[in-house]
Amino acid sequence: MMSYSLGPVLLKASSITRRVAELGARITRDMPKCGQILVVGVLNGAAVFVADLIRQMPPDLDVRLMFASASSYKDGTESEGAPKIQADWKAARGRHVLIVDDILDTGLTLSTMLRKARRQLPVSVRSCVLLDKKERRKTKVEADYVGFEIPDEFVVGYGLDCVGMWRHLRDIRSVKVEEDEGW
Ligand code: 5GP
Ligand code: MG
Repeated sequence: MMSYSLGPVLLKASSITRRVAELGARITRDMPKCGQILVVGVLNGAAVFVADLIRQMPPDLDVRLMFASASSYKDGTESEGAPKIQADWKAARGRHVLIVDDILDTGLTLSTMLRKARRQLPVSVRSCVLLDKKERRKTKVEADYVGFEIPDEFVVGYGLDCVGMWRHLRDIRSVKVEEDEGW
């Protein structure tokens, strides 16, 4: 049996807020002023981030929001391999697509999302992730917008979970994983 407990704060709520505002301003500046922008948030982890990010975009941008569901980490902190992704990809046609995810880790999720979006003949495709664990990459993919680069540590909070827990934390924190001794 694994047991999990909260570790130290890696990113305080105040620095996340500041960085999300910067990302929103940069994305707004880079986005064309005409045409529809389809923001695709990757559930469940990016729900909190995407909710804050789209509210940084001004009223004169034609922003639409949809969600994709990606299979998440099955148990605790271990990946189950290639992600399964479900979304209404047809909505990408003729739009400027912005894929928003919580963490860029191995890169499998983002590269799959990018491939699926591009098949629909969007006008453009960009990607934004709050966190980037560069050392963990298994496939060659980078995001156009990155909030923070972080070391290879499992983190929770601000939408990110560990076996379903801690998505509601305002700060981003690391997790201590311990294997309980069986009796
Ligand atoms: P990738 O396909 O890049 O390996 O995985 C990306 C997904 O793995 C993220 O969207 C996130 O759901 C999950 N993930 C990767 N690292 C972490 C982490 O440190 N904490 C949590 N909660 N999820 C993570
Ligand atoms: Mg995710």
